[in-house]
Amino acid sequence: MDYYETLGVSKNATKDEIKKAFRQLARKYHPDVNKEEGAEEKFKELGRAYETLMDDNKRELYDRYGEDGLRNAGYNTNAFDFDFGDLGDIFSSFFGGGMSGFSSGRSNPNAPRRGADLRLDIEIDFEEAIFGCEKEIKFDHLETCQECQGSGLDKNAKDTVCPTCHGQGRVQQSTRTILGSFTSVTVCPTCHGSGKNPKAACKKCRGQGSVEKEKTLKIKIPHGVDTGSKIRLANEGDAGVNGGRSGDLYVVLHAKESNEFLREGFDIHTRLNISIPQAVLGDNVVINTIHGARTINIPQGIQSGEKIVLKDLGVPHLGSDSQKGSHYVTIFVNTPKKLSEKEEKLYRELFELQKVNSSKKEESLLERVKASLKK
Ligand SMILES: [Zn+2]
Ligand SMILES: [Zn+2]
Repeated sequence: MDYYETLGVSKNATKDEIKKAFRQLARKYHPDVNKEEGAEEKFKELGRAYETLMDDNKRELYDRYGEDGLRNAGYNTNAFDFDFGDLGDIFSSFFGGGMSGFSSGRSNPNAPRRGADLRLDIEIDFEEAIFGCEKEIKFDHLETCQECQGSGLDKNAKDTVCPTCHGQGRVQQSTRTILGSFTSVTVCPTCHGSGKNPKAACKKCRGQGSVEKEKTLKIKIPHGVDTGSKIRLANEGDAGVNGGRSGDLYVVLHAKESNEFLREGFDIHTRLNISIPQAVLGDNVVINTIHGARTINIPQGIQSGEKIVLKDLGVPHLGSDSQKGSHYVTIFVNTPKKLSEKEEKLYRELFELQKVNSSKKEESLLERVKASLKK
């Protein structure tokens, strides 16, 4: 699936254009509105494309490497796992009060439900983000209760089904009015929709079927990640309910900055101060790169502000073992503020020499002007 095609926008569309296109299409394909076959799938694809293109990090990865790049960076590219939580603000404007979700009839309280996805933010060093690392992470999540195997029911309890709703989780209420009799369905007040007898609840998890636990994991962070990169750890989120699968844990990375190097995507920038003679005559200079010290050649006659590009001395690309960004060295020519006696003498000589040269040029220019006036 091509995200730009899905949204019908150009490769260089602005965020506003993307937002507009998405709103229009989402309105058309929202499952609450469009009951045609395939509308829901289309709607989820739209959501995935929208979420990716609105995030600068993800968009850059997608532009460079497609969905593979996103996957390698730990993003979930499965449109059908798309989480609509973030889009609430978009929908509230035309569906009146937030997402209504996929209202596929009344839910069965005993149907399997997937556990929640969790987010964990961690800080890593500048070099760790560039070259990758291993990190130990600690987080809390819900695990299936071992006492009741997730059923939420006491092993020895006999009457496990809710006596009020007989396990349905909801009750019908009939109201008689002068216009006739109306039937409404509400959540069962005894079991709050679980369909289970509250008296038979497992003591350990108090009927929840899961308990909060701290977990420690070692994770591998690949090279080339940056602030905002996410690593998805499948099934490390909250445990599912009624045998539903666990949610995922997303580790969101925050890379520290360096005092020495400025990072921009996969490129590194530094500045180098050189003297006037170095700029005029050229020189070889040793500089530090993220890959260690390197000798670079400053060409004769370089101007202040010019950049020297050191290919393959930047950040290793995420998801590639061979490609690397570049290191850009911006040259600044230092004008000396204090001169030794000898330096001043030499600069004066240079100054006089240049004066003679430029006055010669002026003379010849003047001659030419005069000649043209005579004609
Ligand atoms: Zn339990
Ligand atoms: Zn009930």
